[in-house]
Amino acid sequence: MQGWLGKRNVEDKLYYKDGYLKEAEAKVAEVRDNGVILDRTVFYPEGGGQPGDRGSFGDFIIADTVKDEEGNSLHIIEGAKPPVGYSNTLRLDWEHRLFYMKEHSAQHLVSALLFRHGIGTVAVHQGERFFTIETDKSDIGNDVLLCAEDEANQAIRENHRIFQREMTHEEAEALGMRRSIKVSGRVKVVFIDDLDAVACGGVHLRSTGEIGEIQYCGSEKIRGHVRTIWKCSSLSVAYRRENKAIVDAVSASLSAEPEMIVSALDRLKEELGSLRHDLKAAEKAVAKLEIKTHMNKEQTVVFLSSVESASFLDAFDENDGITAFIVDGEGRFMFHGTKDCFDVLKDKFQLRGGGRGMLYRGSVQGDINTVLRGVGSLLNG
Ligand SMILES: [Zn+2]
Repeated sequence: MQGWLGKRNVEDKLYYKDGYLKEAEAKVAEVRDNGVILDRTVFYPEGGGQPGDRGSFGDFIIADTVKDEEGNSLHIIEGAKPPVGYSNTLRLDWEHRLFYMKEHSAQHLVSALLFRHGIGTVAVHQGERFFTIETDKSDIGNDVLLCAEDEANQAIRENHRIFQREMTHEEAEALGMRRSIKVSGRVKVVFIDDLDAVACGGVHLRSTGEIGEIQYCGSEKIRGHVRTIWKCSSLSVAYRRENKAIVDAVSASLSAEPEMIVSALDRLKEELGSLRHDLKAAEKAVAKLEIKTHMNKEQTVVFLSSVESASFLDAFDENDGITAFIVDGEGRFMFHGTKDCFDVLKDKFQLRGGGRGMLYRGSVQGDINTVLRGVGSLLNG
């Protein structure tokens, strides 16, 4: 693989040396189907989990920046593109860039601290809502991750310098970095004082203090690895506030202090379970009563019930000799009887559904009352 710089001169990639350059004068060197290559740029192309930059070039809107096959920044412009030789001011969407510089720098810091706990970083992603670090572990204790969170916020308070040095491959190798170098030739090594050193072509903050805060938000399993989820800066603050608002709302709704929410919910769950049990027993009693009311001397029951048809499931015994067809207001039927009898009804009245043994369920097609009368006269001979 070629070096971070691609085939072009380092002077052209202004972002590479200074991540805080917000604008520059540039000229179109090449026009492609989806964008332009410029003679110099402050736009970082997507890479290493860090999204590409967006902004403007004169009146042209740059929607994204990606790396072309030669490592150049391809500035994506939809619609008409400026011609070769066109020059104007290139301006970053600085808010967008700064947000991702914060996430990216926060990821460096967290990966470095996890490494001190013996946890390696396999893959990273920086997103609009959070950033993730996929680790090389299949299991990590919550205490370790919370400890890394504490250490990250400590490093933010200590406001460590983040800086970069260009060096030869051999010099970089000699640093014994936590991650192997993925490029050949000269490399850019990014340091967080003596906390971290890693080869990276991305754009970074100048100090950890600018991250503001970091919050561990949870983990998930991916490819057998623990992937950890983090928020930093304004996203972390917003997350904290949202969570507090949720706790306050639940606390008010339950009339319970926040620390009593869990036990209050446990109590409610218990009560709900007991009520459900009582309701089921009551429904069964109603069903038995309805069946008794509607049963003729041939032990046949056919009627439209105000109770949901499924409630009758428990009201029959397997061999009680009762043949029943019960429909509820939603057109759902329940049939208790032999399979042969059900098959006849199903064909004749276009019933949808099935079952086994003595119980069949499904839905009635067409008018419920017409089907009910038809089934009634058929079963009652
Ligand atoms: Zn980086």
